[in-house]
Amino acid sequence: MQYLPFLLLTILGITQLSPLSSGKAIGKPSLSEQTIKDVEAEIFSYKAVAKALIHMAVEGKAQNRSYERLSLLVDMVGPRLSGSKNLEQAIQVLYHSLKEDRLQNVHLEPVKVPHWERGEESALMKAPRRQPMAILGLGNSIGTPPNGITAEVLVVTSFSELQQRALEAKGKIVVYNQPFISYQETVKYRTQGAVQAALVGAVAALVRSVTPFSIYSPHTGILEYQEDVPKIPSACITVEDAEMMGRLASQGLRIVIQLKMCEKKYPDADSFNTVAEITGWKYPDEVVLISGHLDSWDVGQGALDDGVGAFISWEALSLIKDLDLRPKRTLRLVFWTAEEQGGIGSLQYYLQHKGNISKYSLVMESDLGTFFPIGLQFTGSEEAKAIMREIVKLLQPLNITQLLDGGEGTDINFWIQAGVPGKKKLSRAT
Ligand SMILES: [Zn+2]
Repeated sequence: MQYLPFLLLTILGITQLSPLSSGKAIGKPSLSEQTIKDVEAEIFSYKAVAKALIHMAVEGKAQNRSYERLSLLVDMVGPRLSGSKNLEQAIQVLYHSLKEDRLQNVHLEPVKVPHWERGEESALMKAPRRQPMAILGLGNSIGTPPNGITAEVLVVTSFSELQQRALEAKGKIVVYNQPFISYQETVKYRTQGAVQAALVGAVAALVRSVTPFSIYSPHTGILEYQEDVPKIPSACITVEDAEMMGRLASQGLRIVIQLKMCEKKYPDADSFNTVAEITGWKYPDEVVLISGHLDSWDVGQGALDDGVGAFISWEALSLIKDLDLRPKRTLRLVFWTAEEQGGIGSLQYYLQHKGNISKYSLVMESDLGTFFPIGLQFTGSEEAKAIMREIVKLLQPLNITQLLDGGEGTDINFWIQAGVPGKKKLSRAT
């Protein structure tokens, strides 16, 4: 069931899409009421097609197919860190799988990607008592000297507290014990924590994992250095340890940590965006793009982030093909590379293809994890939203009909900012 919202794209690919274009930025006029009515009628006429697609996915021969395809990849290949052999193996495997699936124009588009590797890493609290702490170095972090960094800790709960206590930070390890507000709001401590700490003279930064829930499990993700700011090592710690140090510090106790990280950066590596299509029968040069990223972090399987986003995108094309449907516009599937390193693959794709932007009717991604599907997030003009509201009604039998704002995502933002409508799958934890 998890991929059902993306079945919408299969319908979108078949129906008239040009009226969805958001207008201004790509030079299309706004819609008259009559045009909207016509488009709504056309969307409604695809009810039977939607039903057939849903049936095939839920009860028919495609039942569980995307799950089985993905489980084979993550079990056989495993983590797919940018620059790793695993990622390149995954790309080659999928390139052949897409061909075997008889999709069209299957090809690889070269991208140079960052190659950073985690080394051995440890953190030991030495005062006020000895306590090893679980850490995960942040992607792109430099390592420590071989003997590590041993320093006193300054615990803060926000960047503004760090500013207020800037004079205390010199030579220390800054520990961010920031409350979790939301991923979007709180993730800045992971991405910017090292730079902000370095600006006030700290020697390392430890960041409370960006999560509302913890079972003593540190998270990872990318950090961003600034060219004119010294690079200091940075890792995530668990919510439990961040709170413990917050309590110790508030008692006025001196905390000392020894941090060792053997992270290494290598020259950029060769990688690829993986592309496959079903060519449109009426407007073959117009594109409806659907996507997910194939790379992952090194410490998990990358099943949810973002194997599932990539594979539901593939499944949408497979379903259309299996039902012998032909979209009016070309449905283009893209598996991005090196998203976790900052959307490297999708940026390269945008730079290479933006000359054809007027041919892009809609761009989609799924990359927020996979929970219970409830609808879609969409960014586009009011007219486009009105049409999209009709489209989600086609999923009424499954009660996946919510349409919310905020369709932006790392891999499609360039297009949305340039005026192409965009959307992503919406789900909630149960
Ligand atoms: Zn992701």
